[in-house]
Amino acid sequence: MAVTPQTNTTLEEIAETLLKSDDICICGHVSPDGDCIGSQLALRAALVQLGKRATVLLASDDPIDAGLRSLPGADQLVPAKDLAAPCAVFVQVDAPDVRRIGEDAAKVRAAASKTITIDHHAVPERQSDLSYTDPDAAATALLIWRLAAHLGVDRDYAIATCAYAGLMTDTGRFQHSNTDAAVFRAACEMVDAGADPAALAAAFFQQRTLASIQLEARCIEHMELLCDGQAALSYITFEDMASLGAVKSDCEQLVDVLRSIKGVRVAAMLRDEGTQVRGSFRAKDTTDVATLARRFGGGGHRAAAGFTLHEPLERALRQVRKVVCAAVSDEALR
Ligand code: 5GP
Ligand code: MN
Repeated sequence: MAVTPQTNTTLEEIAETLLKSDDICICGHVSPDGDCIGSQLALRAALVQLGKRATVLLASDDPIDAGLRSLPGADQLVPAKDLAAPCAVFVQVDAPDVRRIGEDAAKVRAAASKTITIDHHAVPERQSDLSYTDPDAAATALLIWRLAAHLGVDRDYAIATCAYAGLMTDTGRFQHSNTDAAVFRAACEMVDAGADPAALAAAFFQQRTLASIQLEARCIEHMELLCDGQAALSYITFEDMASLGAVKSDCEQLVDVLRSIKGVRVAAMLRDEGTQVRGSFRAKDTTDVATLARRFGGGGHRAAAGFTLHEPLERALRQVRKVVCAAVSDEALR
C-alpha cells in the first residue's frame, strides 16, 4: 500500500475523527460512477449505523443511471445545491481536487470546519485537512471498506453492497490491471457480508437504455482508427444526444467499445456538450493516459482518464488526434 506523499493521515485517524464528529457531508465527483456513489453510500451506511447525521451529496443534479439508483440508500442522495444547512465535516471521496466536485459542492466544502479526502487518485497537492490518497487501491470503495472496519461498525448488507459496486465498476468487472489479490480478498469479505455479485452485475450491466445502444451505433459510425490501428477515436455530437434523447450516462460504455478492438492500445471518446467537449481516454497497455488527460487540464488513472475542453468539437478532435498519435508512437519506441 503506497499512499501518496500528500497523505497526512491514516484510515485509523480518519475513523477517530469521524467517531468524534456529527453532521457529516459525503461528496463525490461530478458525473458520478459506481466507485463514487458506492463509496459515498457505503460510508453513509456506516455513519448512520453509528447514529451520526450523514448526508450524501450529488455534486450536480444530473440524473444518475439505473445501477447507481438501485444501491441501498440511493434515495438519500441530495444535490449539493439543495442542501439547506452547511455541515461541520466535509468528506470528499473518489475526487482528487476541488474542481472535480463542482461549484455547488465546493461552497458546502468551504463552509465546513473540517475537510477530509479519501481517494485512490494520485494528486499533485493536498486538498483537505486530513487527506488519505492511495493510488495502489483499485477503488475508493476498498478504502471505505477498510475505514468501516476501523469505525468498528458491523459491515452489513448495505455497506457491503455499495462497496462491492465500487470495486466491481472501478476494476471493470474485475478485469483491469488494478484487479489484484487485495481486490478479491475484499470482494470475498463483501460477498460474505451479503453483497450479491449476480444481482449487482445485472443492475449495473444488464440495464442499458435503448439510447445507449443507438449511441453505440453512432459512435461506431464516427470512429476512426489512427496510427496503424493502434488508437481509436470517436465522438458523439450534441445533435446525436438530442435526437436520441440520450443523457450523459448513456455514453459511459462507448469508450470501452473502442478499446476492445483488436490492435487498439489507446481509445479516445469525445462528447460535445454544446458549450464544452468532454473527453475520455482508455489504455489497454502501459500507455499512461492520465498524463495525456492532464495536457488538457483533466486527470485520472494510468488506464482511464478524462478531461474537458472548451473548444468546438472539430478543434478538440484535432488536438486529441495529435496527442494520442504522439503518445502511441512514443510508447512504441520504448
Ligand atoms: P471517464 O472517462 O469515465 O469520465 O473518467 C475516467 C477516470 O478519469 C475517472 O475515474 C476519473 O478518475 C478521471 N477523470 C475523468 N475526468 C476527469 C477530469 O476532468 N479531471 C480529473 N482530474 N480526472 C478526471
Ligand atoms: Mn474510483
